Amino acid sequence: MTGGSRGIGRAIALTLSAQGAKVAICARSLEAAQKVVAEMEATGAEGLAAAADISRESEADGLIQAAMKRFGRLDILINNAGITKDGLLIRMKEEDWDAVLDVNLKGAFLTTRAALRPMLRAQAGRIVNISSVAGTMGIPGQANYSAAKAGLNGFTKAVAKEVASRSITVNAVAPGFIETEMTAVLSEDRKRTYLSQIPMGRFGASEEVAALVAFLVSEAASYITGQVITIDGGLRT
Ligand code: NAP
Repeated sequence: MTGGSRGIGRAIALTLSAQGAKVAICARSLEAAQKVVAEMEATGAEGLAAAADISRESEADGLIQAAMKRFGRLDILINNAGITKDGLLIRMKEEDWDAVLDVNLKGAFLTTRAALRPMLRAQAGRIVNISSVAGTMGIPGQANYSAAKAGLNGFTKAVAKEVASRSITVNAVAPGFIETEMTAVLSEDRKRTYLSQIPMGRFGASEEVAALVAFLVSEAASYITGQVITIDGGLRT
């Protein structure tokens, strides 16, 4: 999986590991990824930490190769790595547009293309892309991020149709506001505004997103593909 050293990715990695998966995670910071793998290993599970910037083709390919070399197979890919670089569009720098598109959208393209080779050979696989409600509702101040996540939703549906006949499912999970370092930087004012729009009256927990991902990669979800599944405490209803 991509990301995995903190936040939603860490929760997904630990949940899948606890359910018996051997999980390879990556982050730009190897040390942070190694700490999460140490947590898995403390329970007797196997894991692999890799340093990779998934917006670079060679590093995205390298992650998949490292996982294949270590575990000999690839059953699941979680495209979780994501970044924000918020600002009103009128003042948005080209580099902030490019960085957000490169990690959130191009990164998923690169890892999915690499992961599909072994999955197509095995005629089996599960791919889950971590999108966002920003991709369907649009969030002011996040035009780059909203565009990247909307792109990820379209990518999910197109790839799902390409590989459905090979028993590979491709879905997206679109969280609302989840308590992680990504949302910790929001001003108290913005947090209050968002909270007032969430019927459940609270931000979600990473473990709640991880539980949905764990279902989507399970045998029980074998007939679900091409979907964008929202998990947002009622925000978008
Ligand atoms: P986070 O706490 O900031 O964690 C992001 C993870 O991705 C870290 O492990 C980070 O490690 C890694 N990462 C970032 N850029 C990377 C790159 N170029 N290559 C490889 N790894 C990279 O974020 P989060 O809140 O858990 O978000 C996880 C996903 O959920 C993202 O796709 C985000 O858009 C989505 N999401 C989050 C929320 C929310 O409210 N938190 C809501 C909707 C959707 P390094 O920094 O070391 O690279």
